[in-house]
Amino acid sequence: MDLIALAVPFFLLAIVIELVVNRVRGSGYFRANDAINSLSAGMLSTTTGYFTKLLPLIAWGFVLQNFALIDMPLSWFDASPRGIALWVTAALAWDFCYYWFHRFSHEISVLWAAHAVHHQSEDYNLTTALRQTSTGFIFGWIFYLPIFLAGFPLEVIVAVNAVNLIYQFWVHTQTVRRLGVLDYIFVTPSNHRVHHAQNERYIDKNYGGMLILWDRMFGTFQDELEEDPVVFGVRKPLANWNPFWANLQVYDYLLFDARHTKRWRDKIGVWFRRTGWRPADVEAEFPKARADLDHFRKFDARPGPGLQAYVMAQFLVSLVLALFISAWFAESGLEAVLVPCLLLWAQLWTIGLLNEGRGYAVRAELVRLLLLVPVGAALQPGAEWPVVIGYVALSLAWLGYIIIYSKQLVKEHT
Ligand SMILES: [Zn+2]
Ligand SMILES: [Zn+2]
Repeated sequence: MDLIALAVPFFLLAIVIELVVNRVRGSGYFRANDAINSLSAGMLSTTTGYFTKLLPLIAWGFVLQNFALIDMPLSWFDASPRGIALWVTAALAWDFCYYWFHRFSHEISVLWAAHAVHHQSEDYNLTTALRQTSTGFIFGWIFYLPIFLAGFPLEVIVAVNAVNLIYQFWVHTQTVRRLGVLDYIFVTPSNHRVHHAQNERYIDKNYGGMLILWDRMFGTFQDELEEDPVVFGVRKPLANWNPFWANLQVYDYLLFDARHTKRWRDKIGVWFRRTGWRPADVEAEFPKARADLDHFRKFDARPGPGLQAYVMAQFLVSLVLALFISAWFAESGLEAVLVPCLLLWAQLWTIGLLNEGRGYAVRAELVRLLLLVPVGAALQPGAEWPVVIGYVALSLAWLGYIIIYSKQLVKEHT
């Protein structure tokens, strides 16, 4: 049973409720372009995850089988007082390892490259929670090895991980302000807002997953202060709506520095030293301007004339496709989802381009629509192609209408 997949409909419902509340209050916490980008990164993370999540499971299973200190059979984890105590211990152990994993994800460059995706949104709402990395699988599993060395069963830890992740969803909101004593013990919206801030005082604070107590214990806690309102986002903004680039941007910065520095020690240091560290020669030759928060402006590119509704409709189609892919994966495994994933990724890419209002976005979208059926059918014959042909025909008709209509619109204004 995949708890996270089960939670997805509730996540989406909560997002709709938060969206409606914010519209009614006019609080401006949601922008369509940013929310679409966050959810696109989430869909990318989930679907690439089908291909990568075996790696940690194999590594953990191997450690468990060969090096576990205590043999803990699954039957110990029942509803008895001992079983409950074991479940709580497992949850605490996971949360403790999560704290360190998350802390290193901010403090070490190559880990930050993977984690930065989660922090790029300059808004903060429930869609930000689903904005997850696609490359976290590379190093993430290492931090949880002590739990398997101790001997906790894989099934228990998979469940505990899911609960931890699901818990972290609701704290990504500005709609809930302060929660009194809960802010002291648990990770709550207030102290997680601090974590997503780029204000000097808030940087590298509040790493906890479920308990904020870890931060209080290890000196990384910072309270949210009225006099210092949170500015969300990262110091080197993503400044586009491409979910693929969101996953690659920081690696690209690091690669640039590694290529341009002269010393071999620095070529390696670029990846494994403290986030923000740059070799002296590269720093001197290619200095980077410091972020100026007093004049901070959110990145806010929007779709071209007449395209807003089209982008939103395509985004909803991608969301439905992602939900179908999740069901197909649960039913038939990896092979069944490869082609649908490729089609989804192509769609997420053009949605990003359209959202940025790029000149060539409509052409890229036309190419995608025209190639979708021939390429898809060649790769996976016998699928539900008549349905897809209907979708392509409708999309082409709509796009054609926009091209003609928006040209007239531009002419009328000139
Ligand atoms: Zn973080
Ligand atoms: Zn977060």
